Amino acid sequence: MKLLVTGAAGFIGSNFVYYWLDKYPQDEIRVIDALTYAGNIENLTPIMSKIEFVEADINDRAKVSDAMKGVDAVVHFAAESHVDRSIFDPAKYWHTNVHGTLALLEEAKKAGVPRFHHISTDEVYGELPLDSGSKFTEKTPYSPKSDNIYALSKAEADSIVLDFYEKTGMYITISNCSNNYGPRQFPEKFIPIIVTNLIDGLKVPVHGDGRNVRDWIHVMDHASAIDAILQKGKKGETYLIGTNNDRSNAYIAEKVVGLYGADESMVNHVPDRHSNDRRYAIDATKIITELGWKPEIGRDDFDDGLKETIEWYKNNEDWWRPLLEKKDVISDSTKKIIALISLDRVSGKTKFTFKNIDKNNVEVPSEKIGQKDFVEEHLIRYKIVMKNLANKEWYQNSTDSIKNEIEELGKDSSTFGYVEDLASREDRINGDRILSLVKIEHADRPYGIYGIASWFEVERDGDKKIVDGFYSWGRGPKSGSKLLLLVKKDNKVSHVAVIREEKFPMGGIEYALAGGFSNLNEGLLDFIVRSLKNELKINILEGAATIDKITSLGRISPDGGMTNNKPSLYAVTVELKDKYAGIAENEIVEEEKGVVLWPVSKINDLVSKCDDAYFLAAMSRLELYSDLIANNKI
Ligand code: NAD
Repeated sequence: MKLLVTGAAGFIGSNFVYYWLDKYPQDEIRVIDALTYAGNIENLTPIMSKIEFVEADINDRAKVSDAMKGVDAVVHFAAESHVDRSIFDPAKYWHTNVHGTLALLEEAKKAGVPRFHHISTDEVYGELPLDSGSKFTEKTPYSPKSDNIYALSKAEADSIVLDFYEKTGMYITISNCSNNYGPRQFPEKFIPIIVTNLIDGLKVPVHGDGRNVRDWIHVMDHASAIDAILQKGKKGETYLIGTNNDRSNAYIAEKVVGLYGADESMVNHVPDRHSNDRRYAIDATKIITELGWKPEIGRDDFDDGLKETIEWYKNNEDWWRPLLEKKDVISDSTKKIIALISLDRVSGKTKFTFKNIDKNNVEVPSEKIGQKDFVEEHLIRYKIVMKNLANKEWYQNSTDSIKNEIEELGKDSSTFGYVEDLASREDRINGDRILSLVKIEHADRPYGIYGIASWFEVERDGDKKIVDGFYSWGRGPKSGSKLLLLVKKDNKVSHVAVIREEKFPMGGIEYALAGGFSNLNEGLLDFIVRSLKNELKINILEGAATIDKITSLGRISPDGGMTNNKPSLYAVTVELKDKYAGIAENEIVEEEKGVVLWPVSKINDLVSKCDDAYFLAAMSRLELYSDLIANNKI
């Protein structure tokens, strides 16, 4: 048999190749990998003489077509795989995970490859309630969280794979697996961070309250499950892979610290990260009963699997140390702003470096997703959302005219988020069961749809039927971001910048943060550039400022219960050039409309004047994290 393995220079792909060569030494393996920041040729060095390596992007049709020649099965691992990075550069995730998957399918079909296995993740199912015992099964509807770009892109890829199967009848299978651990995992992932930090005497970061649950599987158990699917999987079928090993992050941190022999005081709770889904857990009954798969390490020998992983990192410092220095490049769409992103070991989060970049030496990804792709992507996401909605009883009970209205709103990018929100909402509100959606109200389309009121018929106390109304944002609950601009001078923050405006409906002077709604797939850098230019009249692209740092301050729910509004907060630190460069440390700059630069030394005066909820939340979170920020820890 001849296998084509994509993404084999990464963590799971490389372990799979080792597994396969060991078990089927007579088979031939060809590998395709673009060697991104996560791809490491050294993962394959010991077996290079036994495989054929093709360095290529899976979107490179000519190279992919060539690589398909003579192949009996494609095993597709290649992906952008890190949730924390995906929020900064969503286009890259669509490029590889969505478009790359389609390119592979089409080239495999053209070349007459008889078998295709697509590797996916349990994150496509969204998150489970923290304290429930429920688990994902193959029947769980797809419901990736709207702010988890990685999960959204994998869900889109899965949907393309299933559509392709329906249209062509090709022998295709999909597997959705839980969190993997084991040797050769990039040091930005949770278990490698714990071990490598302990080796260097650094504390182990646990995000938020540490109660988030992940279902852990050893990478070799994942490889044997894929083997079972390749041998016995039925075409068009999905198989969930997991070992019933769901554990809280705090448990994992304490366990690894204990097995390493370190003191539990090494565990350090740090502010939560973005898109940190609460709980994933897998019910793997189907692959166990139908294909006879049995994990070798599984839940029973989890401690042994962890001990072996700890030993691997201890014995392979030469492997992981250079990766800590490895930086990925992101840019805004004009490519004028370039940032390097890498791991911050103390906070366990992705960090930006804007300074000291020799732009000529930095290779900027040449392909950016254009308008045509945006429409295609939107339609695929639309189809997934509509499928999930159709499974909801209240939707089935709603009238055709309401269903048509929802469908139309879903086709408009400015109201798609509302429909996505409807599809992922619980079927009960405050104990009332939702029976149907009876009325939708919003402004006339020519004026732009901002907010939407939904009137649901609900069942209260078992038998009473009443109609209750809820207010939503057209772009969805998590599509907004607010930016607190911190102005740095002589290496220290001297001012905050806010907008002075007269707000409808209150009238009177208001001080507010910049920000608003990002467009679907708009990268964070583009959003920041656009917001600062339009609202604070600071044009970064024309050199009015340079970005020094971006700090995530989490999400806030300014009016919980009234609306579903939950924007992200960021503190963006800039150095101002141009007309503001010469301002004195204690000087207040206040234009009649637009930017207000307020000295941090007089911040109390601004706080007492300002009742913008986002501003106050950003200030209190900064205060909360000030220690960490001062020490560059978040
Ligand atoms: P990884 O980031 O370690 O490796 C990904 C590999 O893909 C890298 O070698 C990279 O160079 C390559 N790649 C990225 N973009 C490419 C492109 N455009 N063309 C060619 N190669 C490209 O990821 P991983 O953790 O090994 O995950 C592998 C697969 O398993 C992914 O599809 C991921 O979604 C899935 N998965 C991972 C986990 C997990 O816990 N890591 C869990 C479930 C599913």
